[in-house]
Amino acid sequence: MGFSRRLFVGGLPAVVLGRTAALEEGRPVGPSAVGTDLDAAGANVAGAGQAAHERFMMSAIEQARRNPAYPFGAVIVRTFTGEVLARGVNSSAEHPVLHGEVVAMTDYVRRHGNRGWSETTLYTTGEPCPICASAAVWAGVRRVVWGSSIEEIERTGIGQIGLPLREVVSRARAFYTPDLLLGGVLRGRTNRLFREAQRLRLCS
Ligand SMILES: [Zn+2]
Repeated sequence: MGFSRRLFVGGLPAVVLGRTAALEEGRPVGPSAVGTDLDAAGANVAGAGQAAHERFMMSAIEQARRNPAYPFGAVIVRTFTGEVLARGVNSSAEHPVLHGEVVAMTDYVRRHGNRGWSETTLYTTGEPCPICASAAVWAGVRRVVWGSSIEEIERTGIGQIGLPLREVVSRARAFYTPDLLLGGVLRGRTNRLFREAQRLRLCS
């Protein structure tokens, strides 16, 4: 049943994981296989695959624009209906752990209660840091989609803890198995957002 495949989305490798998949990388497949593999993984948000991922990433970018200097934005979507359930933007000026993903998760609980996480997909402009990755793991969010990688964010002058999301996830394998971990969605746009933020911080 389980499978693990390495896909290439937006020029960056991404891993789609089945519910019972091990976390090691599988055989490479070409970009043309992306759509069908997402379908096969049951990872098709609102039935539209990559197009839907990009649409929801645009919503995360919209959130990110609310904090132009630290444009970490996130939305939480009901996976099989595409309903946007919660939103958030980095608010760490108010509190150090109020990263975009944490703010979106807090918004989710406020609106929908602390339940239903396994039916959601978290979209975020940047690869979740260890705080946010752990929060998603503890909640049981099974699908996480991000734009810029930790390395790409770091290159725009924002310090990062160099612990990839996939590493956090793999260390939680005793109780957590994701359905989808997908990086690099609209990375051209999210990278531009982080570069613009760097210019803004340098000018202010
Ligand atoms: Zn974070």
